[in-house]
Amino acid sequence: MPQAASIALAVHGGAGTIARTEMTPAREKAYRDGLEDALRRGHAVLRSGGSALEAVETATKALEDCPHFNAGRGSVFNADGQHEMDAAIMSGADLRAGAVASVHNVKNPIALARRVMEKSPHVLISGMGAFEFAHREKVALEDDQYFFDQFRYDQWQRTRGTDVYQLDHSDDDRKFGTVGAVARDAAGHLAAATSTGGMTNKRWMRIGDSPVIGAGTYANDASCAVSCTGHGESFLRAVAAFDVHALMAYKGLSLEEAVREVVHVRLPPLNGDGGLIAVDREGRIVLDFNCSGMYRGHVDADGTVHSAIFRA
Ligand code: ASP
Repeated sequence: MPQAASIALAVHGGAGTIARTEMTPAREKAYRDGLEDALRRGHAVLRSGGSALEAVETATKALEDCPHFNAGRGSVFNADGQHEMDAAIMSGADLRAGAVASVHNVKNPIALARRVMEKSPHVLISGMGAFEFAHREKVALEDDQYFFDQFRYDQWQRTRGTDVYQLDHSDDDRKFGTVGAVARDAAGHLAAATSTGGMTNKRWMRIGDSPVIGAGTYANDASCAVSCTGHGESFLRAVAAFDVHALMAYKGLSLEEAVREVVHVRLPPLNGDGGLIAVDREGRIVLDFNCSGMYRGHVDADGTVHSAIFRA
């Protein structure tokens, strides 16, 4: 279990039933490189005195830019063959939050979510309204080709025209998903960020847990910062991220106990396959999941970067 530290950072790149047998060394390296690059970038922000908010945005952006993960570039296809992305960011210091849902052509949805938080009176903006806001805020846009990935396209073809929608990583081949980051900065403030392309073949304008504050993303300096990944409908019903906070704040559980309760007791009866990453006010990090693997990583107190996929 990772140790407590004054600054702390963890990331995830999605949870799922990942078959060890299908993981080649080259593939594993590519995913772990992606995670570790995000950790190094986020940690550099914290080391130089930057805020937890800046660190989670920086780490999440790096994961969005990496085509191996289902967020930003590399997002899955919805039932109409489009990429619709969701993202949220939250500051534990003052409970400010920003989120976008069902956005398209936005290079870094997490950057847009932060603009919603800082430049609008709203928390969650969706669809064309978010796209128009992106234009106004001059955030980077990309054409459809940028988001295209042959594997995602083939994955969609297998469910196209059916009512089946699936976790990106429940497929039997390449498996990786939603991304997120949690951090504690030197001033003791916490922040969380989550970004996703959602689930393959999801219905047009379907919104998962990731951009919903309290479901897939939550941060509160009084307790913890949380970013989730998994079957969004279940995480929404469980109000999973807020539940970790509530168990700590109202019941006095430790971070580890609260995460265990949510991931292994409360989510499974709701078919809530997945996991989450969390950091508490002392900088303790917990990365836990109820399926066979979760792309994840954290930075140690001495600055060493760790990444993992399967259960140890
Ligand atoms: N939670 C995401 C969603 O339901 C999917 C994932 O974590 O891979 O949109």
